Amino acid sequence: MSIQVPSSTPVLVVGAGVHGLSTAWHLAQEGERVLVVDKTGVAAGASGIACGVIRNNYFQPAMAELMAACVEVWESDPDAFRYHGSGYVALGPPAQEGDLAEVHERQQRIGYPSDLYVGEDEVAAHMRSLFSDWRAPGLTVCLHERAGGYAFNRGSMLGLADKARAAGAEIVSGVEVTGFDLDESGAATAVRTNHGAIEVEQVVVAVGPWIASLWGMLGLPDRVDVRQPDGSLHPGRPMWTYWYLQEGEIDFDPGRFVTNDGRLSPVLHVDSDRPLRDDDGRPITGDPWGIYVKPDRRTVQGGAQPLRLGHAFALDPYPTGSVEPGFSDMWCAALSHCLARFEGCRARYLQERSGGVGAFTVDNFPVFDYMRPNVFVAADSNHGYKMIAVGREIARVLRGEHSSLLHPFRYERFSAGELHPVSHSPYPWS
Ligand SMILES: Cc1cc2nc3c(=O)[nH]c(=O)nc-3n(C[C@H](O)[C@H](O)[C@H](O)COP(=O)(O)OP(=O)(O)OC[C@H]3O[C@@H](n4cnc5c(N)ncnc54)[C@H](O)[C@@H]3O)c2cc1C
Repeated sequence: MSIQVPSSTPVLVVGAGVHGLSTAWHLAQEGERVLVVDKTGVAAGASGIACGVIRNNYFQPAMAELMAACVEVWESDPDAFRYHGSGYVALGPPAQEGDLAEVHERQQRIGYPSDLYVGEDEVAAHMRSLFSDWRAPGLTVCLHERAGGYAFNRGSMLGLADKARAAGAEIVSGVEVTGFDLDESGAATAVRTNHGAIEVEQVVVAVGPWIASLWGMLGLPDRVDVRQPDGSLHPGRPMWTYWYLQEGEIDFDPGRFVTNDGRLSPVLHVDSDRPLRDDDGRPITGDPWGIYVKPDRRTVQGGAQPLRLGHAFALDPYPTGSVEPGFSDMWCAALSHCLARFEGCRARYLQERSGGVGAFTVDNFPVFDYMRPNVFVAADSNHGYKMIAVGREIARVLRGEHSSLLHPFRYERFSAGELHPVSHSPYPWS
């Protein structure tokens, strides 16, 4: 079937992942004519393979406020978004007490429902009130978010696409953007695709891990000077870094991954400084480690330590690659370290391609900004499956309003030195 692409559109959205679809949905709801093009199709990128964790455990005030808005959108239609509001539990060793206490305090201020438990006994008691077989030692802080949880990646994107279409947006698959025609002011007059040029008034670029390619097409620099909060300048830092998120699944009935009162488990995120051994007592690591885990449709799914891949990566076909050989031993040992029900789960590890690559910005936080006078870029630094409200905010900005939620993520922050604070978490996204 030949692909029909309109020769012009008031708003062109590039990318049918969470940001492109949410933007299209919200714009169309306001009566705007919007066309979404994707070189493959809905959910073909990171949004279609994300673990689907929706949390507000962010040390950065701007991230916390944005996440609270996102959770509201997820909660607005759990069925369509395949959303489970089971909550999220973050557990850590003494080194993380200060950070999590600060996160909790801020959540209280913005009215985000969460409880903090401090001290090994208090943490263990709380976890045993949830799971009678909880057994992880040495965790002295626990932040239990009562909102958030997880959603099923592909299903939620199909639900979002249905909403965008129902509101009047057009979504065309198999259309790859190959370049931009820019006028002397730098504004895009047309977007070139493998099915012809499309004249545009406004463009939203939401291409997930492919951002470096579109960034280049827009003539934007692949290096950036970053002013640090102490005023010093770090010149010429690479704009994009690729990380591989290692994730896996075990063949474990999610109906058994429930709390003592029979509810589906919240997402669990455990960072520990205790030595990790497998079920036979063999040492896995003596270094601090971290994992997350959640029930999935038919299995139990989660991840651990991401791998830094550097500043260049061949993304296609996506998703590419798989986890490193030691991942399954480590992740399964950690599950068993935490909950007795997971003892022996290494044998039930599913040897399938899993995980995936994301493109992180120079400071590991999103850039949501006009990068050309009429080209808005959503580069979420691979935080963003949960960020379903970003599209709502982009729609607002395109309609001439200000978004206080997106303002902290403007590109200018790098030169202005208005960076986001950094936590003690071992992950580049906490
Ligand atoms: C393994 C993994 C697990 C993750 N887990 C979580 C999680 O639990 N929670 C969370 O919040 N985030 C998670 N993330 C991050 C999250 O998935 C991404 O940040 C988010 O999905 C990005 O959404 P997007 O809309 O920007 O891009 P994508 O979903 O990647 O969509 C981009 C789309 O653009 C299209 N495209 C690319 N180039 C072109 C072009 N030239 N022309 C036309 N179309 C193009 C692609 O085909 C693709 O469909 C995870 C990421 C990975 C890789």
